Amino acid sequence: KIEDRFRELVAEQGLDQEVMVVRTGCFGLCEEGPICIVHPEGSFYSRVKIEDVDTIVSEHLMKGRVVESLLYRDKLAPPEKQLATSFSDVTFYKMQHRVALKNCGVINPEVIEEYIAYDGYKALGKVLTEMKPSEVLEIVKQSGLKGRGGGGFPTGLKWEFAAKTEGPIKYIGCNADEGDPGAFMDRSILEGDPHCLIEAMAIAGYATGAEKGYVYIRAEYPIAVKRLRIAIEQAKEHGLLGKNLFGTEFSFDMEIRLGAGAFVCGEETALIASIEGERGMPRPKPPFPAHKGIFGKPTVINNVETFANVPQIILNGAEWFASMGTEKSKGTKVFALGGKINNSGLIEIEMGTKLRHVIEEIGGGIPNGKKFKAVQTGGPSGGCITADHLDVPIDYDNLIALGSMMGSGGMIVMDEDNCMVDIARFFLDFTVDESCGKCVPCREGTRRMLEILDRITEGKGEMEDIEKLERLAKNIKASSLCGLGQTAPNPVLSTLRYFRTEYEAHIVGKT
Ligand code: SF4
Repeated sequence: KIEDRFRELVAEQGLDQEVMVVRTGCFGLCEEGPICIVHPEGSFYSRVKIEDVDTIVSEHLMKGRVVESLLYRDKLAPPEKQLATSFSDVTFYKMQHRVALKNCGVINPEVIEEYIAYDGYKALGKVLTEMKPSEVLEIVKQSGLKGRGGGGFPTGLKWEFAAKTEGPIKYIGCNADEGDPGAFMDRSILEGDPHCLIEAMAIAGYATGAEKGYVYIRAEYPIAVKRLRIAIEQAKEHGLLGKNLFGTEFSFDMEIRLGAGAFVCGEETALIASIEGERGMPRPKPPFPAHKGIFGKPTVINNVETFANVPQIILNGAEWFASMGTEKSKGTKVFALGGKINNSGLIEIEMGTKLRHVIEEIGGGIPNGKKFKAVQTGGPSGGCITADHLDVPIDYDNLIALGSMMGSGGMIVMDEDNCMVDIARFFLDFTVDESCGKCVPCREGTRRMLEILDRITEGKGEMEDIEKLERLAKNIKASSLCGLGQTAPNPVLSTLRYFRTEYEAHIVGKT
């Protein structure tokens, strides 16, 4: 409605030759949306209401006067600098390092020329005209890029396995089935910068010898699906998808497959089954997809964020990427910051950033003066991190050592009012619902765990229930077929590790 009102007024005032109204992807600062930025000044208007549009048009666009009362108040800045007159002044962005999100909120995702103007398809041109596939593999390996979908497997190695597997037909698959509660990183990249995924998948195709890509995306992401469809069409029209790209022998084409929203289809073998038209259920590994993936052919599966880093690595070099982050976790990571936090939204930070910086500075702290209690990372597969660990640098290994995991990048913040048993129950309820039912430990075991948690949270639990929970959790982790079951008990185990007294309080207090 805001966009329509801008268009209407711009036309009414005869400004359409001078003013372009552009809808971009997500700016990241969701808490302050809807956001409008007026260029070239970069004036950052936040929480814009329909009636504000009239003022912005009549004052700013007609008379060149910035409307101070509607500008974003930057509470993270010193008092004298809180009126953020320009987008580039906003502390929330200054504290980040945007690589995967580089174009989100900057370009119109439905116009290929805007992507090209920001160096789009330059990396694809470079690899096709200047590099051998083995050199592309080497640069991705040297960069240290690891899968951003949860597993953290080295991307270059995964590509190399597929490249080395003999076969005339190979595939590149993109996992855009993001389904963790509170996670919207991949969705935002697809909505804000869909061409970046196309370019990266074509690069992966060239490096591994694949000429076809599938994007598996959940149907609940209609804007992302629409924009990706537009982007694929535009890339074909511009000769950036299809036969003989950049005048070379290399051809690459892409197809979208819609998922029906099953969380388990984020697991790569279930995703492959679903792409093939089968019921989305995991398959045992080995064989790994690099050897036997989509339709039994060698396949590389990466998620959207992993791919989004690739063009930048090609253009800026492996060393540039490896210079960010920690020794074992290179580059940046996108997190969806939600829950009890002032600046909920999408952020991208260097690996190794301390959680305290994310919560207290970029996130702006906890609302209503409440105390921070914990943050859940990794969604239903992860665990909670407490105030005692706020100074731990965020990377794959540290989060696992704390009993949590990076996951795809959901970060849900809890304050002193949250009951951690309820939180664990919430996530377990989710995984029980999403278990595909193929193997007994996950199908039956998680249900039994949920029954125990129900008893405890209803004040009907016994002390031995805690021990039963732990025993079940360990067995489910050890014996489930896929990652969903292997990680489903994590929220319970980590809350038991750090907040056992809350379980005991429910049992003793019968509440
Ligand atoms: Fe299905 Fe759960 Fe077994 Fe995975 S662990 S195959 S989701 S039942």
